[in-house]
Amino acid sequence: MIKKAELYKTVYRIDQLPPEDKPEVAFAGRSNVGKSSLLNSLMKIKIAKTSSKPGKTRSINYYLVNDNYYFVDLPGYGFASVAKTEREKWNELMNNYFINRMNLKMVYVLIDHRHKPQKNDHMMIQWLKSLNMPFMIVLTKSDKLNQSEKIKKLNEIKNELSVYGEYIYFQTSANKNKGIEELTNSILAFLK
Ligand code: GDP
Repeated sequence: MIKKAELYKTVYRIDQLPPEDKPEVAFAGRSNVGKSSLLNSLMKIKIAKTSSKPGKTRSINYYLVNDNYYFVDLPGYGFASVAKTEREKWNELMNNYFINRMNLKMVYVLIDHRHKPQKNDHMMIQWLKSLNMPFMIVLTKSDKLNQSEKIKKLNEIKNELSVYGEYIYFQTSANKNKGIEELTNSILAFLK
C-alpha cells in the first residue's frame, strides 16, 4: 500500500540524480498519455506538471514513496514540434539514466488504450529491449472505451507489440481509479 509520497527531487542533468540508495521504478510515455494523472492516482497526491509543453524544460522527477523507494517520472516524449537540441538533450538524459541506474527495477511504458502504439512508443520499447531493461505496458484512459472495445484494442496492441516479446499489460483509468490497485501491487512487488 502507498501510505506516503512526496516530490523528492527534480533532475535536469545526470549528475543531479539521487544516490542509488533505494530501489526505484520509472514511468515513461508520450506527452499527454496521462502519465501525470496516473502518478496522481498511484500516489494519491497532486503532482506538479513540469514538462507538458513543447519547449519547456524537461526534467526527471523523483518521488519518495513510503520513505523507502522512488517513483521516477521520466520526461514525456513525442512532440513533433520540439527542437533538435531539446530532443538531443532528452536522448542524452534518458540514455544516461537507463544505462546508469543500478537500482532501477522496472520501467512502466504508458500507452493510450484507444490508439495503436505510435512510432515513438515503438522506439522506446526497442530501446528498452536493446538495453535489456525490464518493462511492462500500462494502457491509460481505459474509461474512454467500452468493454468490447477494450478487449479489441488490448488484443490489437498486444499483437502489434508481440514482435518484441511477451509483456504484461495493465488496463488503467486514472479518472475512474480502475486498474490502479493491480498496478500498485505489481510495482510494490518489484520494490521489495
Ligand atoms: P501527461 O502529459 O502524460 O502527464 O498527461 P496528463 O496526465 O496531463 O493527461 C493528459 C490529458 O488526458 C488530460 O486532459 C487528462 O485529463 C486526460 N486524462 C488523463 N488520464 C485520463 C483517464 O484515465 N481518463 C480520461 N478520460 N482522461 C484522462
